[in-house]
Amino acid sequence: MGHILRIHDVLHGSRVNGPGVRTVILAQGCSLRCPGCFNPGALDPRGGSAFTVEALEAMVVEAAPDGVTFSGGEPTDQLEALVVLCRRLRKRGFSLVVFSGRTRAGIAGLPGGKELLSLIDVLVDGPYDASRPAVHGLRGSANQRIHLLSSRHRFEAFASRDVEVIIDGSGEIRLTGFPCTSLARAIRQVVGGR
Ligand code: SF4
Repeated sequence: MGHILRIHDVLHGSRVNGPGVRTVILAQGCSLRCPGCFNPGALDPRGGSAFTVEALEAMVVEAAPDGVTFSGGEPTDQLEALVVLCRRLRKRGFSLVVFSGRTRAGIAGLPGGKELLSLIDVLVDGPYDASRPAVHGLRGSANQRIHLLSSRHRFEAFASRDVEVIIDGSGEIRLTGFPCTSLARAIRQVVGGR
């Protein structure tokens, strides 16, 4: 059988999760359990839906974004399949950004971790620390670091913090991006998004 990824959600057309227009793939399941996790609905590894790597690749190709951003949940908890998908997307020329609660060194120490780091353009790493909310840059908390792993992007592309409310064709509403805690709470109350 091919490689399977458990997915919390897939968002197309995002402009706040990295440079350009991006497809955002949110992994389902996280073993890290940061206190105050910003996406608790993505923690259970039995939740979400299962997709083959091929199906996810086809979804991205159809959406034709500038790049793909992986977040979660914890994408590196499903490292083997993630590497296979990134290999395929890289071959097609997509920019690849990964947000991980693991550090760069922690990922490099996992089987397949070094290959993942060689395939992606940018890693935003480190556990979410709710006591140190980030004020600058595309990251959840101030301890997290933005690593440029290729020459494709510049730091400036990760400097701004914006929020998006995406409404899809079926009327489902999702909140994405990097709102401050109070704004996120207020928007969720209004739209009921995740
Ligand atoms: S790594 Fe992300 S999904 Fe996992 S517990 Fe931390 S904040 Fe939540």
